[in-house]
Amino acid sequence: MAATLIDGRAVARDVKERIAVKTAEMIAWGITPHLAVVLVGENPASQVYVRNKENACIKAGIRSTVIRLDEDCTQQTLEDTVKKLNDDESVHGILVQLPLPKHLDEASVLRLIDPDKDVDGFHAMNSGRLMNGQPAFVPCTPLGVMELLKAYDIDPNGKRAVVIGRSNIVGKPMAMLLLAANATVTICHSRTQNLAEITRDADILVAAVGRANFVKADMVKPGAAVIDVGINRVDGKLVGDVDFDAVSEVAGHITPVPGGVGQMTIAMLLCNTLDAAAKRGR
Ligand code: NAP
Repeated sequence: MAATLIDGRAVARDVKERIAVKTAEMIAWGITPHLAVVLVGENPASQVYVRNKENACIKAGIRSTVIRLDEDCTQQTLEDTVKKLNDDESVHGILVQLPLPKHLDEASVLRLIDPDKDVDGFHAMNSGRLMNGQPAFVPCTPLGVMELLKAYDIDPNGKRAVVIGRSNIVGKPMAMLLLAANATVTICHSRTQNLAEITRDADILVAAVGRANFVKADMVKPGAAVIDVGINRVDGKLVGDVDFDAVSEVAGHITPVPGGVGQMTIAMLLCNTLDAAAKRGR
């Protein structure tokens, strides 16, 4: 393997340690950062994610409240829950765990979250702020990618970056963050023609597609930093969007799955919660 492995576990551990220190300082000033998570229904993956978030908060000293609503809860009940959390002075961050059951309108709920408590960074106000280069809550996964690049001294300034994927939670904010860091950014998607030609130009290649082993070695520029956001289950095993073994022989840096970007997402959620508490200052 030629590429340097980007160790998401180690970077996430460092970030969480820093957060624990800052949280203790804030508590000493009389502010206890508080994250409220709303979980609707019994989706097993969501239950695991929420438990992991809860545990990470507790470890860092951040107060965590999980509000569990029934699978068949009404839109009104969910919206009332979010409004109550918006009005609750003790709550600094609000997260509605996605996906919601089919009968609920996700977009309306996300729109209701107070943008200053929107630690997932999904509110249009925060996407707009990110786009305008203003301080914003940024979705945790792309924020985590930037932290990984920083930890390995991969400076996007002046580099060519290619992001495969244009979702609102990964691809688009990822591209905006790379652009803000002065990379020359191309966003690719399912209608992109000659994808490999474009990706071969990338000094930094981010794959956020959701297709196992989609990025092959011949799509990668020798020495490139390859960041794999994908999480796919193949025969019960977690794999990324990048054909890890083959691409490792070509890339300069590479993130594994698991143990790469996924580790960063919760760490950055804690960062956003801490920021929300610091900004409010009470
Ligand atoms: P998504 O909303 O399904 O978006 C996937 C994107 O990939 C879309 O923009 C789609 O293009 C593009 N795409 C699909 N097929 C393509 C192809 N053949 N060529 C080029 N582009 C193609 O997914 P997402 O929410 O962004 O998530 C992407 C992956 O990241 C998933 O595996 C997800 O599980 C993972 N993820 C990981 C974390 C983490 O913590 N590590 C967090 C979030 C997501 P169109 O727009 O044209 O359809």
